[in-house]
Amino acid sequence: MSVSPAPEPRERPAGDDASGAPDSPGGLRVLLVEDNPGERWLFSEILRSRGHTVVACEDAETAWEAYRDRPTSLALLDWILPEMDGLELCRRIRESPGGDRTVVVVVTGRNDPEALETVLAAGADDYVSKPVDVALMNVRLAVAENVAGVRADHARSQETLKARTREIEALFENLDQVFFSIDVEEDRLIQVSSAAREVLGMDADRLREDPELWREHLYPPMLGEVEPGEPHAFQHPYQHPDGTERWLETRLVRSAGAEGGSPRIYGMVSDATGRKRAEEGLSERNEELMTLYRLSEITLNAHASGDAYDEILAVISQSTGFPVVMVERLHWASERLTLVASRGLPADSGRELREIPVHESLSGTAARTGEPVVEPDARRRPEHTHEALRRLDLRTWLSFPLVVEGRVTGALTLADHDVREPDRRMVRWAGSLAHSVAAHMERTGAQEALRESERRYRDLARELRSANAELEAFAYSISHDLRSPLRTMTGFAHALLENFGEDLPPGALDYARRIIASGERSEELIRDLLAYSRLTFDELEPERVELGDVVATAREQLTAAIEESGAEVEVEGPLPTVVGHETTLVQVVSNLLSNAMKFVPDDRKPRIRVRARADDPSVRLWVEDNGIGIPEDQRERIFRVFERLAVAEAVPGTGIGLAIVRRGMERMRGTAGVEPRDGEDGSSFWIEIPRARSEGRAPGG
Ligand code: ADP
Repeated sequence: MSVSPAPEPRERPAGDDASGAPDSPGGLRVLLVEDNPGERWLFSEILRSRGHTVVACEDAETAWEAYRDRPTSLALLDWILPEMDGLELCRRIRESPGGDRTVVVVVTGRNDPEALETVLAAGADDYVSKPVDVALMNVRLAVAENVAGVRADHARSQETLKARTREIEALFENLDQVFFSIDVEEDRLIQVSSAAREVLGMDADRLREDPELWREHLYPPMLGEVEPGEPHAFQHPYQHPDGTERWLETRLVRSAGAEGGSPRIYGMVSDATGRKRAEEGLSERNEELMTLYRLSEITLNAHASGDAYDEILAVISQSTGFPVVMVERLHWASERLTLVASRGLPADSGRELREIPVHESLSGTAARTGEPVVEPDARRRPEHTHEALRRLDLRTWLSFPLVVEGRVTGALTLADHDVREPDRRMVRWAGSLAHSVAAHMERTGAQEALRESERRYRDLARELRSANAELEAFAYSISHDLRSPLRTMTGFAHALLENFGEDLPPGALDYARRIIASGERSEELIRDLLAYSRLTFDELEPERVELGDVVATAREQLTAAIEESGAEVEVEGPLPTVVGHETTLVQVVSNLLSNAMKFVPDDRKPRIRVRARADDPSVRLWVEDNGIGIPEDQRERIFRVFERLAVAEAVPGTGIGLAIVRRGMERMRGTAGVEPRDGEDGSSFWIEIPRARSEGRAPGG
């Protein structure tokens, strides 16, 4: 037997490929099994007329092969057939994969309810009785087509759903997280993704099989009951079977079972070790920064190097967990370390440890080499020989050089009685702390040096002042003591001239006159010197002084000289009021006016202008002349005692006048100077002095 169309070519439309063509749109592939050729033809025609493609067979065996080859959506089977009957074929179809989707209609000559039951029991969906009524057949086929359509749709959705599920599963399988689901009532692990291998060190299959195992690894008791609602997240340490300590993060959510089924827990486990470490690293880093900040604050607030060590060492001990901390200073010359500060040492050990040769301790090694020493057990180090140190029985030893301005100045040591294996982080951190201690040493050391030099400077200034005072007192007393013998001498010379002038030979007269001239010059010198010295010792009580009065008095004192030189003195009044010492101010102005008349070329009549300007807080007064002027490089020099310029040699003077001006002004909290005149010959001497607050009288200027 063969698959049609062999006997009846019309049963298969041209181009119809029974094994390859899909259900045509609107039409289905229909398996038709009928041993009666006439009926076979009839049924084929009916089916084709409904737009279907027909796979027509005359026996069940052939049909079964065709069906197995490619299942059809609809099967129209004759019950009674030679050898295998239609019902048997129906059963086979139903049992075959996807066979439940085919709509099976059995054609039978029997019409009793029993037969009908048998047909349905064999898995058929419907039946058509013989002899076939074409109209009825069409109705039954319409129903069958509908059912087939629904089933095909359903099958397609099923397929799509499966494909999606597969995709999602593949996705989950490829993620680093372990996804799992648990049936709560059955206490059964429904699913677990293969990342379990990596994350938990457990094969997914093994977990599924062994409830103890999955409970222990996926859902440890510490996670507690999962209540329905919001997801729960836990981080917990995990001893991975590969021996590493890890952190896992488990997220769980419980949801009611689908359609009233058992509730489920959906979970995800991920390896949080990296994140946890990073978080820990970050918080460690933050703590370190805080500690460094604290140390720098302590340093900034400390005044002397000894001040803050207790606090600094306490912070270091706390942040490193080392009970013993020492700071030693290195003395290069003696090759010794002296203990500057310590913490955690027995009370009496300080004295014994005060000085340790650099070759007898590990801190010495650090200081000598400039490299850190990290030693879990100091007893095995050959240089750890100093008796007092060995008695302390410190095992773990971390020593860091303290570098200040590029030079090793000592060592910071952290020590513990236990053997510890400091990790890289600890060593790095202790190194940072050593930097802080060095910064503290540097800063407080610099402060001390500054204070020391200030102290020395002050001592020096004091010594200088007292030496000056002594010298001036000496000069004063000499000048003073010289005065009376000098007066006696010139007095006798005068007497000689007056009483015996006529009897003296001309040579003796000349000598007597010279004695008088020299005596007067010396007298003048002594007077100026005494005036100058007095400016040093006398109390110059400040008072309100009218500069106008000062200038007037000075002019009066110089009346003779003014007349003699024919000088013109112009005063631009009114002049302001100042705070000073009137007598001293008169002397100052008088000296300036006198110089202004003296240092004028012979052929010129002195013209002097006095003017002032009142600023806040001082007043400046100028005495301008039309004299010989002063070269720029000499303008400071002339204010020193006995300094006279070469051009002044022909002019009488002691070289003390301007020194009195400068010192007098300084004693009155003022100053004095000289500047050239704008575009004119001569000089412009000036003094500056505090201005008086207006007190009814308006300040002039
Ligand atoms: P003395 O007037 O007794 O020489 P001073 O101390 O008053 O001493 O002056 C010091 C020197 O400054 C003078 O010798 C002179 O060389 C110079 N000097 C002072 N006043 C003037 C001036 N108004 N013009 C030019 N040179 C002056």
